[in-house]
Amino acid sequence: MASYQTVNPFNGRTERTVELMTAAAIEQRLAAADAAFPAWSALTLAQRGAYLRNVAAGLRARREDIQRTMSAEMGKLRREALAEIEKSAAACEYYADHAADYLSPQAITTEARRSYVTYQPIGCVLAVMPWNFPIWQVIRFLAPALMAGNVALLKHASNVPGCADALRGVVAAAGIPDGVFDVLHIDNDQAADVLRDRRVKAVTLTGSERAGRSIAANAGDQLKKCVMELGGSDAFVVLEDADLDVAVAAAVKSRFDNAGQTCIAAKRFVLVDAIADAFVQRFVEAARARVYGDPQDEATTLAPMARADLRDELHRQVQESVALGATLRLGGEPIAGSCAGYAASILDNVGPGMPAYAQELFGPVAAILRVKDEAEAVRVANDTCFGLGGSVWTRDVARGEQVALQLQCGAAFVNSVVKSDARLPFGGTKRSGFGRELADHGIHEFMNIKTVYVA
Ligand code: NAP
Repeated sequence: MASYQTVNPFNGRTERTVELMTAAAIEQRLAAADAAFPAWSALTLAQRGAYLRNVAAGLRARREDIQRTMSAEMGKLRREALAEIEKSAAACEYYADHAADYLSPQAITTEARRSYVTYQPIGCVLAVMPWNFPIWQVIRFLAPALMAGNVALLKHASNVPGCADALRGVVAAAGIPDGVFDVLHIDNDQAADVLRDRRVKAVTLTGSERAGRSIAANAGDQLKKCVMELGGSDAFVVLEDADLDVAVAAAVKSRFDNAGQTCIAAKRFVLVDAIADAFVQRFVEAARARVYGDPQDEATTLAPMARADLRDELHRQVQESVALGATLRLGGEPIAGSCAGYAASILDNVGPGMPAYAQELFGPVAAILRVKDEAEAVRVANDTCFGLGGSVWTRDVARGEQVALQLQCGAAFVNSVVKSDARLPFGGTKRSGFGRELADHGIHEFMNIKTVYVA
């Protein structure tokens, strides 16, 4: 039987061997999901909300076990994993609190006796998820989906099966009936077959552009709804009147937390000439202070990357950019003797034609793009196929807001790093995808927005 292995990216040890599910095992889970939907969707919001609160409590109660699994499977720092688990628990409570507001019928005045919009769940949604926030990415889909009355099957990234199983355990312990949420240990071909199954009504993907093309094509062929949360290369625009202490501290955090493997991390630092040298000098000093080491060690501030092959691909992008004229200010190489460590790195004088300009750098490497003024900063920030997020740094808040409005992306922040927040919609434009998660927009994605007209 086919199987795959997960490798601890800090010490290189094989963590686990997982057997791919058989066709019979997949069929059993599809049938269970289909069977669970009528009863689950018939519960009241208060009943489903109570289950979601149990999930939140379960995540908190098991946080030490779960963070160790996250760390072992994809290298996350202990404190970052604990923060992710807490954020996930809070999102469950957020939807338990707010689903009634988001899903109450909306009356619309027409010539009818009564006309209104009501929101009805659609059934089983397949979720294909990435490893970089292995609990949060799932929960930000799952909490609204379950509150809405849908049921879900998770195909998680192949390097985090333990995180998937941990989540399944928390959901089961919360008392949520069998079939409402389950995990499929399957490969991408099997996932494509699951999406073709008539019992699966829609799919959500968080992942790369490559996976997006494949899954969206399949969903299109089946005429099934899909939400695509794909890659990003967010601009971090620093204007001449920015508070550099604040901006540099934010830049380091956004670029190097989670070993740089965050879709909405600042990746392209667009600096106007007036402050570029000062910013780069401070940025290099602050980034140099990041300490690589064991993710479980509190002194570690730079985690290993999730897999050695991803680290090698990042290094290729760095080397190619340098060969094309970028200036290496810091790092630029794998950490000697490590399994998947990469040094905190800063590439200066990045320009068109280089991988660091055009591609997503999914690791601890910052690209500096120098521009002469605000107008050129906006043009360069938008000169990308991605459109996930972006930020602008200036003491003039009104000016910052005007620049934010010109950024072609799903979320533009002024004097703050781009972050996801259950209260705010999240998603991209251009090749960063389509559809939204979180807030009221997220809960409506997988619902039948149904018009009722009573003459
Ligand atoms: P990935 O390789 O695309 O994997 C994501 C998920 O898609 C995994 O479950 C993976 O399964 C599956 N997958 C990969 N290729 C597939 C295919 N051809 N058909 C069907 N499924 C496929 O991405 P990743 O390396 O895990 O994650 C990094 C990417 O995700 C980055 O581009 C990042 O920016 C993006 N991301 C976006 C967001 C957002 O909200 N927009 C958030 C986080 C990450 P296997 O592991 O089994 O291959």
